[in-house]
Amino acid sequence: MKLRSKTLAVLLILGLLTGCASTSDTTNTTAPIVTIPSDRTIEVIGSEETVIPITLPPLTTQEEATLAPETLPEVTGQPTEPAAPTDPVTPAETPAPPAVTTLPAGGTHTIVIDPGHGGIDWGTYHNDYVEKDLSLKIGLYLQQILTTQYTGMNVVMTRTEDMHYSDHNVDDLQKRCDIARDYGAEMLVSLHFNADGGEHVSYGAQVWASCQPGLQTASDSLGELVLYNLSLLGIRNRKVGHRLSETQFNADGTPKDYYAINRHCAEYGISSIIVEHLFIDNVNELQFIDTEDKIYAIALADAKAIATYFNLSHV
Ligand SMILES: [Zn+2]
Repeated sequence: MKLRSKTLAVLLILGLLTGCASTSDTTNTTAPIVTIPSDRTIEVIGSEETVIPITLPPLTTQEEATLAPETLPEVTGQPTEPAAPTDPVTPAETPAPPAVTTLPAGGTHTIVIDPGHGGIDWGTYHNDYVEKDLSLKIGLYLQQILTTQYTGMNVVMTRTEDMHYSDHNVDDLQKRCDIARDYGAEMLVSLHFNADGGEHVSYGAQVWASCQPGLQTASDSLGELVLYNLSLLGIRNRKVGHRLSETQFNADGTPKDYYAINRHCAEYGISSIIVEHLFIDNVNELQFIDTEDKIYAIALADAKAIATYFNLSHV
């Protein structure tokens, strides 16, 4: 179901979303419980419209359990959100390319592109913008760009349609990482969109990178390149972040990654990043995804970052 409004509607869902769902450490969550009205009815209010009650489809108890929200950690050093830029498409200063480690040219590489969520797991959503659909669009464009405009890249998709692997979120995320293992991938890139679930003022792109020894350099480097390329589109760079589990540890006692995608990939020795491209519940961010060309531009930014990191040659 998609919510439609002729205007940029304000979606009033008390406590409905605190972020997109499936990247969280479901065994270590202190995330607030999603609060959906008992009658599952929400309201969309537009300036030219009367209040429109919309009833969400009923969920089974099991589905609700799998749709627990992922936590949205605070960005260190940014306790409050500044006002959105009035013209973020033309930033005052051109961002400087990041100093990162890239791979030598040549050879063939395998990467897994993981459009986040799917099926009953919508991720986050706002008006017509649904995370699982946007992540799939960008994933398919990304696959197309990498395989037709560059040489030396074998692209494996975790999904190419609206589906999920398991009603159990934990199993679904494990399967996506198993695919990376089975194909001998060097890197998994999980595509997502964010929501703050509060005042809807947060904005910008963020990357959660694996911070395990031997994997962090690659994850950080690709993450920095992705954020740099997105910043050239005017999307704010919220930096590469790392988060460690407080309950799961490696054999040597060091903590594993908090986010399941990063944690499971690291267990297979595969670098990974989770890209939260922008906040789809902030109306100012919609300027970056309100046409198909702009969605393609985001995929192109991701592709250029991957091509730079892997030192791919153009066709
Ligand atoms: Zn997500």
